[in-house]
Amino acid sequence: MSILTSVLSDLLKSLPYLRPQLYFKASLTALSHAMEDQVLAATLDQPLLIASFQRERFYRQEAHRYQRLSQRSDQIYVLSAPETDFANSSEYYEKVAFEPEDGLSQEWHLVVIADNYATCLVCRESLGSIAKNQQLPEISPGLDMDTARRFEGIWTSERGVSLKAAQLLLDRIVVYRPDLAGKIQEARQRFGIGEPRSYSGIPALNEYACDIDTDPFVQRLVTYLQASQYKLHKAYRSITAQARKERLVNSISTAIRRSLDPHEVLQVAAQELGQHLGACRCLIYRAQATDAQAMIEHEFLNPGIVSVRGQTWELEGNPLFREIIQQGEGVCVADTLIDYRVTSSPALSLIAKKFAIRSWLMEPVFYQGRLLGIVELHYCRLPPHEWQVGELDLVEAIATQVGAALIQAEAFANLEELNKQLEALDRTRSNLIAITGHELRTPLSTIQVCLESLASEPDMPLELQQVMLSTALSDSERMRKLVQDFLTLSNLESGRVEWHPESLSLQECVDLALSRLRTRSATEDLPQIKAQIAENLPLVRADGDWLVEVLAKLIDNACKFTPPKGEITIKASRNLNQTVEVTVADTGRGIEPHRLEIVFDRFYQEEGALRRTTGGTGLGLAISRQIVNGWGGKIWADSTGKDQGSQFHFTIPIVQGSAGD
Ligand code: ADP
Repeated sequence: MSILTSVLSDLLKSLPYLRPQLYFKASLTALSHAMEDQVLAATLDQPLLIASFQRERFYRQEAHRYQRLSQRSDQIYVLSAPETDFANSSEYYEKVAFEPEDGLSQEWHLVVIADNYATCLVCRESLGSIAKNQQLPEISPGLDMDTARRFEGIWTSERGVSLKAAQLLLDRIVVYRPDLAGKIQEARQRFGIGEPRSYSGIPALNEYACDIDTDPFVQRLVTYLQASQYKLHKAYRSITAQARKERLVNSISTAIRRSLDPHEVLQVAAQELGQHLGACRCLIYRAQATDAQAMIEHEFLNPGIVSVRGQTWELEGNPLFREIIQQGEGVCVADTLIDYRVTSSPALSLIAKKFAIRSWLMEPVFYQGRLLGIVELHYCRLPPHEWQVGELDLVEAIATQVGAALIQAEAFANLEELNKQLEALDRTRSNLIAITGHELRTPLSTIQVCLESLASEPDMPLELQQVMLSTALSDSERMRKLVQDFLTLSNLESGRVEWHPESLSLQECVDLALSRLRTRSATEDLPQIKAQIAENLPLVRADGDWLVEVLAKLIDNACKFTPPKGEITIKASRNLNQTVEVTVADTGRGIEPHRLEIVFDRFYQEEGALRRTTGGTGLGLAISRQIVNGWGGKIWADSTGKDQGSQFHFTIPIVQGSAGD
């Protein structure tokens, strides 16, 4: 029994002079509400009201109004296509459930007819608008698409048109609710609905008649329209704010992509953000959760505002920073003069006063949950700044970009460090090639010559044979030492060494080192060696083998660079800072002051590898530095210059609570 025809088409057919107009859903809602309010305002006596909703869900939004409207009249008819429980009934007003295929399901009608007043809204949804809505339900679930739905139709206060619209709708109601035929007949008779003169096509004069004051109606309509205007305005504002935010975020991310220099990127970010938010100061600096202080690195400043760049910011005792760490989000102080967090901290109050900070925002920069830095905004002028939600969102978005820049900065620094290490490695490699060229090839060719002569000349005198053999042996020993030192150093540098710290008596270690020296150089003429170890020296904590190794190397060097007539002194005394300082001093050839540091470089030899006079690999001091640093000590050299003797010092931690401590 579905009726496929459209009420609007039927109306236009009977009254061809009518020109349908375009309406957005928002306007129809405003018009309908204003028309219903006219009835609610009780200015009309028992009017006929017919409302046709496309779907039950639209009716539901208005159901409470209709309940109130039902108190104003017995002649109220509400039509809708049922979705869940809308059904024909006569409880408060007449409900008419039409078939979903009925032409009414595309239409929106509201007719109000009283003795002295008539108005109607007869509209059909534009097909394009429906199709669009059905195609994109998930993209347009909310209001925006819905309010943009378009309708075409008639809204008029012409009595003749309203009567015709009422007639067409009542005709349909009788089809669905034959039980209402009597009641409908009453309405027809009372208002003269269906009488031929009403729809002759040309409105009669009395058909405009309306002695009701329509001013309140217009007022209400304006209120509704203004409300939707306001909503639109708000939406527009949020769209422009969003667009501005996107532009800012874009400009900062472009800077990040374009520049490899993280400092430049952070400066751009501080500048853009500060300018955009009209802040007096915008700071960006590195900070980790456990840092006690931070140095202000990047700053945007407004003219006339004091700079804080280069200042050290207290973090550990800063309640705002602590709050950031605890909550994992930014903090915002509207007025430093009355905010408890600032007034209760003398340090913060002082900073706020010194740098005239009146409103203060600190936003953390996180990267994968790790704090990398802070973005700060200061407002120094009166009145205190009122923080807006949009601004805070914006700062948060920028902080995310800054996070990327800081990570880039870190990677950049790591890369630089890596490059330095690679350069050092490259230098070592070249040195190694030079030293292998000389240190290894020279003894190797000597060994080769000796062995070849021994092999090719069986009649060589025994004495000469002995010389050949011992030369070959001592040169192979030099080679072994070089290879050994090189391996030791590379193991120490790469951390592949096992440490066995123990409590040691320094005297015993010195004795061991000296005995090792004597067994090795029994035949050589050595300078005199004196040991002056303080008697009550506490035990030291170090790896015994490595400690003896350092002592042996320093004593060995002292012997090498001091003539036999000279003197070597080994001293040890306690330092104030819980360490023992050992000094190996000689009266030998000394070191020029500008070389005191580089003697610790790998392969450093004053004469250069190629003009070496004494034995050695140039690795001894580099190895010693690695060992001493391994137990947390320091090693350094002193000398007043050439032929003035040298002193090598190193420190070892003492064992807490040992004798003498
Ligand atoms: P080497 O095996 O050449 O001794 P080291 O690393 O032990 O290697 O020492 C590096 C260089 O430091 C030596 O070649 C020498 O020029 C200088 N040096 C080390 N100890 C002394 C010292 N006691 N007096 C003067 N110069 C020294």
